[in-house]
Amino acid sequence: MKFATKTIHGGQKPDPSTGAIMPPIYQTSTYVQSAPGEHQGYEYSRSQNPTRDALQKNLAALENGQHGLCFASGLAAIDAVIKLLQPGDEVISSDDLYGGSYRLFKKIFEPLGIKFHFVAMQNISKVEEMINPNTKMIWVETPTNPMMNIIDLKVMGQLARKNGLLMAVDNTFATPFLQQPLKYHADIVVHSATKYLGGHSDVIMGAVVVNDDDLAERLAFIQNACGAVPGPQDCFLVLRGIKTLALRMERHCDNGKQVAQFLKQHPRVDKVYWPGFQEHPNHAVANAQMRDYGGMISFSLKDNTQEAATKVLQQFRFFALAESLGGVESLAGHPASMTHASIPEEQREKVGIVNSLIRLSVGIEDIEDLLDDLDSALK
Ligand SMILES: *Cc1c(COP(=O)(O)O)cnc(C)c1O
Repeated sequence: MKFATKTIHGGQKPDPSTGAIMPPIYQTSTYVQSAPGEHQGYEYSRSQNPTRDALQKNLAALENGQHGLCFASGLAAIDAVIKLLQPGDEVISSDDLYGGSYRLFKKIFEPLGIKFHFVAMQNISKVEEMINPNTKMIWVETPTNPMMNIIDLKVMGQLARKNGLLMAVDNTFATPFLQQPLKYHADIVVHSATKYLGGHSDVIMGAVVVNDDDLAERLAFIQNACGAVPGPQDCFLVLRGIKTLALRMERHCDNGKQVAQFLKQHPRVDKVYWPGFQEHPNHAVANAQMRDYGGMISFSLKDNTQEAATKVLQQFRFFALAESLGGVESLAGHPASMTHASIPEEQREKVGIVNSLIRLSVGIEDIEDLLDDLDSALK
């Protein structure tokens, strides 16, 4: 099955009790047993729910994995993955990381005894230098947020293998349409399904996909034992959103390309970060591992102040000033004060999150309207 077919048919079959082509929203907390312990595979909806199952199978199919697990949010999914570790274990991650992941790592897991190293992961030697006997996991985000660096999944996968480390990839920005990390020996793929997978800015959800049976069992144990599961209605919405993922991603990529090129030649714009540019430092890696370049773009202004960025953000008609990304509508954000405010300023400046930096999630509207919007806001 090819990708667009999988979005619609992957792991899906008509509802066995009625033939309903869409999985019903099984809005139930429990299931009746015919005798103690005799049931039809469902006991309690924290542990299993048929609507959630349908989504979990679909997600596994999209990532070419064996097992999918859904969580109440992207961060709940990340939380479950880090709970595979023990006090004393160490994780190597990138220095330009989703702010919420950074906060979870530093503020929740470090006090519990798990140590995190944040390095410029585009540079493989920086990762190698950090590996020691306590290192258990490499945490990769690519493209990175918000600087759009590309991490070489193949090289990172080889490094993880060689050193017996788990490799986890947050694939939220790329989606399985653009790249499938399990192909490069990633052990764990994580998503904020809130973003492109759901795609309509109407649900918060997270997902994990793995191949290994033992890893799947441990994660399912954590999913049930800690209980951060999504409800069936949200599972239905994400499953519905995924059906148009391939179509939406094509348009996000087309619009993204035109927005990036427009910004690049604009006199008020300083730098534009988008992996599709020839001169992007990791362009070749992007070409090797991604089908296209996505709809996420960051740019800074020649007038490098928060005031200048604020002015532009307030002028937009279609790019709504909001946290989040990956929905059908275009969004714009100010990383330094919004998504990345929890990262210390010194650390932010070091990786390029300057005060005028604006991050765009380019939606699927008509490109003429989006370019007009950018042009008038920048004036
Ligand atoms: C949004 C996001 C998350 C967190 O997901 P939530 O669904 O908001 O909890 C994690 N990683 C990345 C890259 C994200 O963009």
